[in-house]
Amino acid sequence: MNLKRQTIQAQTGIGFQLKKGQLLKVIDPLGEQVSDLFCYSQLEPWDALSSGRTIDTCDTILFTRGHTLYSQSGKAMLEILEDTCGRHDFLVTPCSQQMFEMISGKPDYHPSCFENLKKAFQSFEVNPDQISTSFNIFMNVPIQADGKISVQAPLSKAGDFVIFQAKMDLIVGLTACSDEGTNNGSCKPIEFEIFDHLRAEIFK
Ligand SMILES: [Zn+2]
Repeated sequence: MNLKRQTIQAQTGIGFQLKKGQLLKVIDPLGEQVSDLFCYSQLEPWDALSSGRTIDTCDTILFTRGHTLYSQSGKAMLEILEDTCGRHDFLVTPCSQQMFEMISGKPDYHPSCFENLKKAFQSFEVNPDQISTSFNIFMNVPIQADGKISVQAPLSKAGDFVIFQAKMDLIVGLTACSDEGTNNGSCKPIEFEIFDHLRAEIFK
């Protein structure tokens, strides 16, 4: 199976199953657009993606080709097979209504990755309250020597992509990030493809 390339429209999200061994290619079609990823074990849905466990296991806070993302219980979930951008974030939680209210000082509704991930998981037997730090593909959060962080424009150019391989059966939520500030001023779409088998053309 090679599902045709799908588009996640700006400020929306999608949920899907990814079987062990399948490949997920996440593409930034226009450049400078973040995509938040969160996932659960399909067989043990209480076991979800864990930034802390992944940082501990990989001895880094910056993840790229060759790194694996782990679950709360320490099981391998997704291995990064290719990464043409090289800069992602695994420190901060998805943007949320609460965050937008804090920044703007106003209670106005704003679409968010948190809401979109919750919606994406609605048709699956997982607990959306477990959504914590997402793997923020293409998100650029430089870390200063004193530990201070800031959100900067993504380094991704049009066509940059990341390829993950599932190390277990997964329920995956993926967004096109809704925060103008994270995406250099404009929220754009994200594209993705799922492949059953490793093939050379996936990497093109
Ligand atoms: Zn977001």
